[in-house]
Amino acid sequence: MTTHRIFNFSAGPAVLPEEVLVEARDNLLSLGSSGIGILECSHRSKEFEAIIGEAEANLRELLAIPSGYRVLFLSGGATTQFSMVPMNLLAPGTVGNYVLTGEWSKKAQVEAQRVGETHVAASTESEQFRRIPTNDELRCCDRAAYVHTTSNNTIWGTEWQHEPEAGGLPIVCDMSSDFLSRPVDVARYGLIYAGAQKNAGPAGVTVVILRDDMLRLDKAAQAKLPIMMNYRTYVDHKSLYNTPPVFPIYIVHLVLRWLKRFGGLAQMAAHNQAKAQLVYDAIDSMTGFYRGHAAPDSRSLMNITFRLPSEALEEQFAKEAKAAGMDGLKGHRSVGGIRASVYNAFPMAGAQALASFMRDFAARHG
Ligand SMILES: *Cc1c(COP(=O)(O)O)cnc(C)c1O
Repeated sequence: MTTHRIFNFSAGPAVLPEEVLVEARDNLLSLGSSGIGILECSHRSKEFEAIIGEAEANLRELLAIPSGYRVLFLSGGATTQFSMVPMNLLAPGTVGNYVLTGEWSKKAQVEAQRVGETHVAASTESEQFRRIPTNDELRCCDRAAYVHTTSNNTIWGTEWQHEPEAGGLPIVCDMSSDFLSRPVDVARYGLIYAGAQKNAGPAGVTVVILRDDMLRLDKAAQAKLPIMMNYRTYVDHKSLYNTPPVFPIYIVHLVLRWLKRFGGLAQMAAHNQAKAQLVYDAIDSMTGFYRGHAAPDSRSLMNITFRLPSEALEEQFAKEAKAAGMDGLKGHRSVGGIRASVYNAFPMAGAQALASFMRDFAARHG
């Protein structure tokens, strides 16, 4: 049976590789020959232990994670990390530094403020978040415990094209919307977190990669933390203190295998570059009609944002695109315009279809 599937430009939860979905479907009733479906299996079973173990091993291989780093699987979404990061990293008297490049980084700072002291190391808000600041623009304060960055700004469509660096301070990075889309020099980061539902799997699991020295709270401070908000809990129990999100972890495991078959992250980055280029070329060849939001040196390969001459035309663009089999193109409510999200599993044919639709639409309405 073939199922009708359209080009899904959703910003998240987002498109997953079809072969992953097919394999998951086949394992719903019985995981391998176990006779127990993946939704029904114990997180203490040897089947699941093999799944989470292989997922961690494949993540370590794909990202070339150095020794001295822990890989954790949590729930609560990336948003819970906005709180966990300061709860675990901000010792009394120290300050969380934030680089504001969009809505998610602002939210991360707001949550940190509930926990302790924060400082804005840089912000491009006055420029409508069109660009990513250079490392030279970062101004961290005394007593800084870490610098928090957001590698890809899902809503505004910008992405760091350089690794952040701030005088050797630990870098904490929210990689939710470009995780596993390109190689990353993990050694430059103290802590990386990513909600899975953009590139790595379905909603429900968040991957945290942290360097051992980020587990810096003393016993007394740890005793005050709710157990589920303490990274130590996940480290000490290998992410299995309580029932983890078994099914989302299983899907992440299948996605990681798929990434390995694809050839790894350098291969994936080249694919993503080629895909996004098709849409950016369409924008750049019709600048009288389409206006890209992001500055060219800060353009995201994951979320491509642009405006049309009027809101009425944007409305019509999204409507006609949907009728042509392309859904999810309406921009985020806070920004408006059009947003095409083209994560790892989004097919090249979909980017080609959008680029040619853009040419056709501009010809008819320009
Ligand atoms: C989607 C997203 C989030 C929010 O993730 P949740 O899992 O819904 O909490 C946070 N940061 C970034 C960069 C995102 O793209």
